[in-house]
This record gives sequence, C-alpha cells and structure tokens, in this order.
Amino acid sequence: VLQLLVGRERPVSAQQLHTELRATGSRIGLTTIYRALQALAAAGLLHAFGWEGETAYRFCGQDLHHHLVCRVCGLVAEGPPIPGIEDWLAEVSAERDFTPERHRVEVRGVCGACT
Ligand SMILES: [Zn+2]
Ligand SMILES: [Zn+2]
Repeated sequence: VLQLLVGRERPVSAQQLHTELRATGSRIGLTTIYRALQALAAAGLLHAFGWEGETAYRFCGQDLHHHLVCRVCGLVAEGPPIPGIEDWLAEVSAERDFTPERHRVEVRGVCGACT
C-alpha cells in the first residue's frame, strides 16, 4: 500500500486503491487497505485529506510542512514552515489556556493547471 502512494502528488482513497489493485489481479480486501492506510497515517508516514466526502491519503515529505490543496483536481503541494507561527501559537495558546501539540496549515485554492 505504501509503495502505491510514494511519488503521487494527489491523495488517494482506500476505494481508489482497491479499484487499482483489483485491476492488477490482486485479491486484497477493502478493509485490509483501510486498516493499512490508517496504520500508516497513525505512524506519521501518510497525511490524511478530506476529498469528496472520503478520507484520502498522501505520502508526504517527513520534514515539517504545510499543505496547499487544489479544490478542483486535489493536487497537494507542500509548503515550508511558516516564519513566526510558533510565536503566534504560543501567544494564542497562553491567551486561550490551550496546550498545542502539533499543527499543520491546509490552504485550499486552485492550482496553476486548473486556473
Ligand atoms: Zn503532508
Ligand atoms: Zn488543480
């Protein structure tokens, strides 16, 4: 499952992977794919995206990054860390009595090809 996701720019749902694997003659079950995707995401290897009412997964870089997501074609680009966001987070968290653990910014928009 991981191999199938490496190198893809767009997130893929369990259903899509299932269809692809079936086409190659695999008899893997949909539930097995769901579990594999969830386990890989829990291990931090995949990032999850909401796409057309389903959860889709993408193999991302392991460095801290943010997401630019095309709402038309689903393309995901990785953006570098945002300068100053740690200070902002510390300030807002102190004001709201909140303990931040992790963060990732997801920006929705339209990619160049779709524009
Ligand atoms: Zn990511
Ligand atoms: Zn696009």
